[in-house]
Amino acid sequence: MKDINTAALSNYRNDFLREVEDNVEEGRWVKMCMQCGVCSGSCPFGSHWQHSPQELFMMIRAGQREAVLATESMFMCTSCYNCVVRCPRELPITHIMHGLANYAHRLGLAPQTNPTRRFARMFWTNIVRGGRVNELKLSLGLYFMDGFISGLRQAWAMRKVGIGLLRTGRLNLFGLVGQKGCRGAGELQRMLAKARLLEDQRKGLGD
Ligand code: SF4
Ligand code: SF4
Repeated sequence: MKDINTAALSNYRNDFLREVEDNVEEGRWVKMCMQCGVCSGSCPFGSHWQHSPQELFMMIRAGQREAVLATESMFMCTSCYNCVVRCPRELPITHIMHGLANYAHRLGLAPQTNPTRRFARMFWTNIVRGGRVNELKLSLGLYFMDGFISGLRQAWAMRKVGIGLLRTGRLNLFGLVGQKGCRGAGELQRMLAKARLLEDQRKGLGD
């Protein structure tokens, strides 16, 4: 498999808008943005991000590829859909934000330490392995994501919730040594791998 960032760069040659339209979920909508700023004004968190959705769309059209794909902003979207219900042009902003985050990750350009990206990867690996989520391993992975000591602190702070979950059977300690996956988990993994290969080939990003 060739480096997909290099492949994308040679396929699109400085036409970042077209690259986004072809590769990012709902990316074809970016050119419809009229820069009114309603999404940025409606976003409960956007003012704390490096770039609001409105800014990101402007930067895509201006060809600022490195700046867009390296920012953490789209990873911070909480999918509240405030922007979507208010956008006068009806852009699916939430989907574009997640699409941009996913594309930056696939290209290997996303900020490696971003906690949302790290948790999303953890969740994906967890669910693909057995075809269903192992909640105990996922929770422990989240707590210990930043190291052993910090994990112990977090687990201690959340001990009452954890004990409650164990008592009510919502957490099962046997999940640590193994949890029954869904039937045909291996086939699911092969299907997902094949789907990714076909998508990369269709986009000219694979071998
Ligand atoms: S609300 Fe819609 S049209 Fe206005 S800046 Fe945001 S995305 Fe663009
Ligand atoms: S869906 Fe995301 S980008 Fe839109 S308002 Fe909510 S947090 Fe902001």
